[in-house]
Amino acid sequence: MENVNTINTQLAITMNTKNKPIVATTSLAGCFGCHMSILDIDERILDLIELVDFHKSPINDLKKFDRRCDIGIIEGGCCNHENVKVLRDFRKNCEVLISLGECAIMGGLPALRNSIPIRECLEEAYLNGPSVLKDGSQMIPNDIELPPLLDKVYPCHNIVKMDYFLPGCPPRADLIWQALVALIEGNEMKLPYEVIKFD
Ligand code: SF4
Repeated sequence: MENVNTINTQLAITMNTKNKPIVATTSLAGCFGCHMSILDIDERILDLIELVDFHKSPINDLKKFDRRCDIGIIEGGCCNHENVKVLRDFRKNCEVLISLGECAIMGGLPALRNSIPIRECLEEAYLNGPSVLKDGSQMIPNDIELPPLLDKVYPCHNIVKMDYFLPGCPPRADLIWQALVALIEGNEMKLPYEVIKFD
């Protein structure tokens, strides 16, 4: 996959140079583990706040874009129509998009359903699975508020162009920190084998 091993930060020069770069993040079909890894940079989060401003993100609970962002960080792949809509919104509003973690890069654990017919998955989860209470009330959720599922779980780059890929489940906090700093400062960063060996 192109760019998987290298953060080439030439795009950094196109970023907003007058103010701090603006970062947005989201979780699609993910478990929030990648977001926890962002927070796992410990006290460097204070340095990060000096380096960037966070916009739409679960970190600050901002729900909508009302300005253009420099970096969009995406956790999780796309398993339903809502994920696709959010991802396209990020592509529209962010200069650079990063696939963070295996779910965003390859679909991850949610993509285990890809080889099984979706009806069979739903029946196992809600009707027949060993953890389902068989008291006659079991049903497959069908509320109109629920976003329709896609036929498969798709990695983000199958839906929109992604600029960079940070592997791991989750990517290590050090890796996220180094990549963000390299991107912001316009340096090149190579990912050594050690940081991708668990993929
Ligand atoms: S890559 Fe791992 S930690 Fe990140 S969202 Fe997927 S399962 Fe969770």
